[in-house]
Amino acid sequence: MAKFLFSSKFGGVSAGDFAELNLGNHVGDLPDAVLKNRTQLRSYLALQHLVFMNQSHGSEIFTVEKNYPDQIDADALITSDPSIGIAVLTADCIPLLIDAGNCVAAVHVGRKGLAGGIIPRVLEALINKGGSQMKAWIGPAICGKCYEVSPEIYADVVREIPETATSLESHRLDLPAGAIAQLREYGVATENFHRCTLESPQYYSYRGQARTGRFAGVISL
Ligand SMILES: [Zn+2]
Repeated sequence: MAKFLFSSKFGGVSAGDFAELNLGNHVGDLPDAVLKNRTQLRSYLALQHLVFMNQSHGSEIFTVEKNYPDQIDADALITSDPSIGIAVLTADCIPLLIDAGNCVAAVHVGRKGLAGGIIPRVLEALINKGGSQMKAWIGPAICGKCYEVSPEIYADVVREIPETATSLESHRLDLPAGAIAQLREYGVATENFHRCTLESPQYYSYRGQARTGRFAGVISL
């Protein structure tokens, strides 16, 4: 059984807009503070290694094995090495963690990634690695009441994934509902934490404040 955790804002050494447990090193926080926060999280989880991503709303999937850097250009990480924890950083996008039995995945699922099919591609990759009886966790993310987009974007995403629709009047996309629908097509049991990052003060939210930190979803075998 995999071990996983979603961090919050609390418990680290970052200050100001990034207080306290900011794990993103691309948002303007002090590099030393981010490193301390990452080290603290790794120690707390008793992991030998904790690998992060340079996320780009792209579709790159990287399998982490021995001799990897501790930060990788990708939007999804997979590992079958129990000494390695893999992390996804978010502040409104969905941090998606998947246990596939013999391997695990951490996936950055924003609007572009969801519409671009990163979830089915990760599930196919896990199946190809012998994964089975998969279970997924959807961490804190902006909810379908809060995520308003332009009418054009709304129409584009709903055309791809009808489950993201809420109402034609307000153009709010329900990304977690879309993710759950894609996971269900593969028979993946999914637990949704139902915490909205914009509404919950314990999480960073980019929509709430552009200069802000990132919390993490971490999973390991
Ligand atoms: Zn909300």
